[in-house]
Amino acid sequence: MSNEREPLKEKLKIPRQPMPEQPPEVRRRNFNEVPLGYTPKLAQREAERCLQCKRPRCVEGCPVQVDIPGFIDLIRQGEFVGAARKILETNSLPAVCGRVCPQEDQCEKLCTLAKKYQPVAIGRLERFAADYAREHPEELGSEEMVEKAPPTGRRVAIVGSGPAGLTAAGDLAKMGHEVTIFEALHEPGGVLTYGIPEFRLPKAIVRAEIEALQKLGVRIETNVVIGKTLTVDELLNEEGFEAVFIGTGAGLPYFLNLPGENLCGIYSANEFLTRVNLMRAYRFPEYDTPVHVGRQVVVIGGGNVAMDAARTALRLGPEKVTILYRRSRVEMPAREEEIVHAEEEGIEFLLLTNPKRFLGKEDGWVEGVECLRMKLGEPDESGRRRPLPLEGSEFLIPADTVVVAIGSGPHPLVPATTPDLKTTRHGTIVADEETGQTSRPGVFAGGDIVTGAATVIEAMGAGKRAAKAIDEYLRGRGAYHA
Ligand code: FAD
Ligand code: SF4
Repeated sequence: MSNEREPLKEKLKIPRQPMPEQPPEVRRRNFNEVPLGYTPKLAQREAERCLQCKRPRCVEGCPVQVDIPGFIDLIRQGEFVGAARKILETNSLPAVCGRVCPQEDQCEKLCTLAKKYQPVAIGRLERFAADYAREHPEELGSEEMVEKAPPTGRRVAIVGSGPAGLTAAGDLAKMGHEVTIFEALHEPGGVLTYGIPEFRLPKAIVRAEIEALQKLGVRIETNVVIGKTLTVDELLNEEGFEAVFIGTGAGLPYFLNLPGENLCGIYSANEFLTRVNLMRAYRFPEYDTPVHVGRQVVVIGGGNVAMDAARTALRLGPEKVTILYRRSRVEMPAREEEIVHAEEEGIEFLLLTNPKRFLGKEDGWVEGVECLRMKLGEPDESGRRRPLPLEGSEFLIPADTVVVAIGSGPHPLVPATTPDLKTTRHGTIVADEETGQTSRPGVFAGGDIVTGAATVIEAMGAGKRAAKAIDEYLRGRGAYHA
């Protein structure tokens, strides 16, 4: 492709390039990734659509401030590794973000083209550049993918290895600090590893991006539960860390508190997805954590987690998977793309339906869900119309497995074991939005543990801002050794 840009009139005629994906009838029974990614030709064609705006509003919509027109222009010129380098300047997890970020609500929503045409497919291009660089190590040359400052001799502890912790760790390591992540589980990555399914985010990709951070000098200690193995105060007073960043997420599942909810075969989405993703239950008996699905699976909820649980369950081989959601399709909080993928794969949606109780067999296993039809009333505080039960509308659906995916909250362990760490009444940690500073000097926090369940890129943005503030805090404690 030449360096010449197409004239504006020609650019505007180029349609947004679709990304090839596995057909629904094939993918519904395998765990391979659904979208297959752009080819270099498709990526360059899509990159040609970017207007290279003088004031790129897309960047304003990106919580980690990626130079979007910059990397897109490099793709246009065929400089794919250069494009990946450009993204890595501010984003340590580009292949992850290119796959799971809700770009339609962020960079792409603000893209100038979106006013009259379809926005540039920024996420797909980001994914392309990151994948290309990973798959073509022979083109990387001797230059490091990211620049690193000389060692400062200062030590920072990060609690939790989700996107918030990983981003804070990566940025602090780039600044020359010695960073150790403490992770409770046996694999790092947080929700990226145990929650988001393989067919949306292959674990090999998460591992590769984490390995790049380890190459940068980030140490990761798994199987360490802060609040049990060690406390935040021990990290600061006995382990030699000068600052701590808490990024422990919001992994504590909410339940419905309905009769029968403790029957066997009823899982929280968190447990169900962890068993399948982290413990590889879909490869039982090769991996020894089985998961029960039976013939009929019922998933309760309408968010992304419910879609992930339903689509995961479908791939484990049941005859039918049904989603119960108490409002209508328009109020569903899940991304449109996820709902469409679930519909295409044959998942049944029972909308305006709420569970009333769970019915079990004598052996203690669930066998059905008694449901109630709902109607929509006036909008509630969330702005969505309130679901109201239709009296006498009870009906029964059979279920061998039920997955409850109605949300999750912060785990209380770290706040409970860290004196004077202020929390809200929801159990989230109180932290300054710009710096992540908590009520304890030297202790910073960010991601879902501060905001409640949110998104990968918001958690990364918080990790990034906190890294900058931690660097300033360390400088305030005295000059660096370097
Ligand atoms: P987490 O990713 O939750 O990571 C926290 C880490 O801290 C975990 O590894 C945990 O084990 C560890 N930890 C907790 N307590 C301790 C302790 N005491 N000691 C040591 N370690 C501890 N967002 C999107 O943008 N796009 C999506 O497509 C998307 N899909 C999702 C699908 C599912 C199934 C779920 C559950 C969430 C999804 N999200 C999605 C939301 C997104 O994943 C989260 O907002 C994001 O991961 C939050 O990052 P975090 O770093 O704050 O926390
Ligand atoms: Fe390109 Fe859209 Fe960003 Fe403008 S706003 S630079 S068109 S991606």
